[in-house]
Amino acid sequence: MNKIAVNETIVAVATPAGRGGIGVVRISGPDAPNMALAILGHRPAPRQAEYLAFKDAEGDVIDWGIALIFEAPHSFTGEHVLELQGHGGPVVMDRLVQRATALGARPARPGEFSEQAFLNDKMDLAQAEAIADLIDSASIEAARAAIRSLSGVFSAQVHALLQRLTQLRMLIEAGIDFPEEQVDSLSDAAVIQQHQDIINNIKEINESAQQGCLLREGMNLVIAGLPNVGKSSLLNALAGQSRAIVTNVPGTTRDVLRQEIQIDGLPLHVIDTAGLRDTEDEVERLGVDRAWQEIGQADQLLLVIDDQRGLSDGDRQILGKIPPSLGVTLVYNKIDLSGRQPGKTEQQGLSAIGLSAKQGDGVRLLRQHLKHRMGFHLVGEGQFMARRRHLQALARTERHLNASLEQLTGRRATELAAEELRQAQQALAEITGEFSSDDLLGKIFSSFCLGK
Ligand code: GDP
Repeated sequence: MNKIAVNETIVAVATPAGRGGIGVVRISGPDAPNMALAILGHRPAPRQAEYLAFKDAEGDVIDWGIALIFEAPHSFTGEHVLELQGHGGPVVMDRLVQRATALGARPARPGEFSEQAFLNDKMDLAQAEAIADLIDSASIEAARAAIRSLSGVFSAQVHALLQRLTQLRMLIEAGIDFPEEQVDSLSDAAVIQQHQDIINNIKEINESAQQGCLLREGMNLVIAGLPNVGKSSLLNALAGQSRAIVTNVPGTTRDVLRQEIQIDGLPLHVIDTAGLRDTEDEVERLGVDRAWQEIGQADQLLLVIDDQRGLSDGDRQILGKIPPSLGVTLVYNKIDLSGRQPGKTEQQGLSAIGLSAKQGDGVRLLRQHLKHRMGFHLVGEGQFMARRRHLQALARTERHLNASLEQLTGRRATELAAEELRQAQQALAEITGEFSSDDLLGKIFSSFCLGK
């Protein structure tokens, strides 16, 4: 894809809507310096904050504030940028935006500042996405990983791998183009070894990316069970210190109640199944049906059982309805009453954990178990943020690499191997945006919020 920077000047409020101490209007594009002249009466020196009056077309003062100019290409977007930091009220912000649009600026689309930065090579696609992920991060671990992606940790690994892929492809293509000259500067075995190394390398990156993706997206967890077995208590116990940020988020589209909690920074979207019971009520039954649909989308289910009563017919009924794809763990709760020790066992092929949600015994065990189930083991330094899109691209890269190796070793079909390598390269380069369709870019940047 050829990157063509848009030659328009755009404007948006960069701070959140509402009232605040300050609000920032960002103007980016070739006309930004002229707009500074018009609004401020003079053009501040680049990168030097000046306290000035922001004026309308009649010369009336809209606000007093700090004006900052960043000259292209030394700005976030790579374009000339004017930042007006005024008082954070909606009327002031609106009037400043209108002033800029009257001077010829176009209201920015969501994510368009980041898009300009991408088009001007200020950052690659994975880094631009990391900005959105940093802003949206719900835990310290997620924010740290997003910062690492933003500073290029992920991109650097992708680039290094792309280079190795390019070299390998050149070697193999050289063999195709001049077969009679026997360009075997590297013996076949060495080429194959190199190929295998690259596959191992992509597996490592994939592993880290999966961790990053988990940090971003977390997992969907269902806590099911009969009334009074301790589902809410377990939810609170699992949330632990992050309980303060437990919120009730009514599902916007499906009316299913979700709660967001965290386990060591891993976001858990807990689907509320309070109403999972057979009912005659038509409306309630619709709700129950929807809850079951949600369960179908979930990653893990905890079936909470009162350890004093043991597995009941009601529990068996719930078990019978659970889709086979869903990972199920039996949680025997209230062991403080039954006298059992906390612990993990296997029961009918399912993991079973005995704990007390009220006293906290065994809850740590369940946390570890859930993280393990999701393959979550934070590798600390070097961990970067990743999205599902990246995982898909990595998976495609790996598929083409495997196919290429098979062509080489099995059929000795070097042309086909080279073609697979080309496709592997292309899939990998989608992560950083070196190869990407306009559709993809549109989809990514439009999911950013306005002013980003
Ligand atoms: P839910 O209806 O399944 O959500 O159950 P709740 O979490 O509301 O708990 C029902 C009752 O059981 C409450 O009185 C809790 O205090 C109690 N309870 C929950 N977990 C435990 C536990 O581990 N030990 C004891 N002794 N009581 C518990």
